[in-house]
Amino acid sequence: MEIQADTIVALCTPPGRSAIGVIRLSGSASLKILRALIATPAFNPRPNLLTLRSLFDPFSGGVLDRGLVCFFEAPHSFTGEDVVELHCHGSPVLLQSIVDITLKLDARLADPGEFSLRAVSNGRLQLTEAEAIRDLVDAQTDAAMKQATRQLKGEISNTLRPAKEQLLTVIVRLESSLEFVEEDLPHVEHEELIGKLQGIQKDLSRLSQTFAAGKLLRDGLKAAIIGRPNVGKSSLFNRLLGRSRAIVTEIPGTTRDTLAEPIGMHGVPVLLIDTAGIRESVDQIEAIGVERTKREAADADILIVVLDGSAPLQDEDMIVLSEAENQLHLVALNKSDLASFSASRVEPDIRDNPNRSNILSVSAKTEAGLDTLRTAILEPFLNGRSQSEGLLITNARHYDLLLRTVSAIQTSESLLHQRVSEELVLIGLHNALRFLDEITGETTSDDILGQIFSTFCIGK
Ligand code: GDP
Repeated sequence: MEIQADTIVALCTPPGRSAIGVIRLSGSASLKILRALIATPAFNPRPNLLTLRSLFDPFSGGVLDRGLVCFFEAPHSFTGEDVVELHCHGSPVLLQSIVDITLKLDARLADPGEFSLRAVSNGRLQLTEAEAIRDLVDAQTDAAMKQATRQLKGEISNTLRPAKEQLLTVIVRLESSLEFVEEDLPHVEHEELIGKLQGIQKDLSRLSQTFAAGKLLRDGLKAAIIGRPNVGKSSLFNRLLGRSRAIVTEIPGTTRDTLAEPIGMHGVPVLLIDTAGIRESVDQIEAIGVERTKREAADADILIVVLDGSAPLQDEDMIVLSEAENQLHLVALNKSDLASFSASRVEPDIRDNPNRSNILSVSAKTEAGLDTLRTAILEPFLNGRSQSEGLLITNARHYDLLLRTVSAIQTSESLLHQRVSEELVLIGLHNALRFLDEITGETTSDDILGQIFSTFCIGK
């Protein structure tokens, strides 16, 4: 089924100046609009072939641009409808005027994600694959990109398929026993069905548990470095960044403002923040910096408290530790390269705290311990699981539906244990099947589809 209702148009490349800008049209009027733009009413393009053409304003007759045009004929296109792509020169003014002309020629501006929505509605793409395209475009790190690519290849539905097939065999068996009003299920078979349901729950639970790692990969986290002046915060910040962004000096109080830089840490996007040293300051500018540090710290997912491990702790270190005590944090004992460094001297002075995930020794100078620090920053968010190579659930919608599937099967399993009527057992199992189908979009309502695609960019 193809919806060839109205024709939508959007600029598919980012706004701004560029070498090329691509405008995409989808719907029944696409070819008519293309013909008007190239002033060739009888143009009969070979599908899927780029041709160089002059584009005209059909209302004034003036030449607009010379570019490559391509026609994809329904149903062999991304959306399953007639699609036209115009590869023009990347002038924002030109591209806008071409879009405006198509609007006068019966197209309308596409809503966010509307091309992908049409692709899903026309069976050209599974919902999980469309979501993977969005995630691929939004990916901030190499690892996030790889996950999106795996999902784009249909790995989620392939992974769910065995569970779904197992579930169907249980449903069919229970349905037929209902149909033929047999006696109760034989004991052996009863046990076998319970075993199958337990197996499905185990597989789906295992998959859902990858969400902690998947969510981290997709959304990333915010880590703020705090400490008194001169402990080496800026040095550590620069080292983790891999370049000199913050100014490093021996003069305390040099970092007066916060710096934020996005980095990839073992594939996880981390917004790393260097803050002004926390101390009582008489200098007004520094005092503003300290206030800002406290705000940034409150907003971070994890704090990296830096202490100078080569010297005894000072009162200012204690102030910093107490600032951090109500938040997830770790302690980095810096300057481990110095002879006067002693972790065992400093550690007894640091009171235990349930929000502290780790205490480790590092050297911003030699980079010793930095890799352990990276792992320690991510560790509390992985809930003890490592960032595996396998398929990860990265999408909260998929996660939620997996949990609901498992819980529905669990309920049915316990009803089966109690040997209540098959009819009751089946309710949960049918729900579970529906939840699984909702993940891939087979039974997703239009309302929900609308909500999902509204999170896409325009032109996708
Ligand atoms: P911040 O004020 O906490 O940001 O500290 P800086 O990064 O500006 O460093 C203060 C001083 O400590 C500078 O002279 C750095 O060169 C020095 N420093 C920082 N980290 C280390 C380290 O790991 N080892 C040694 N030996 N010196 C360091």
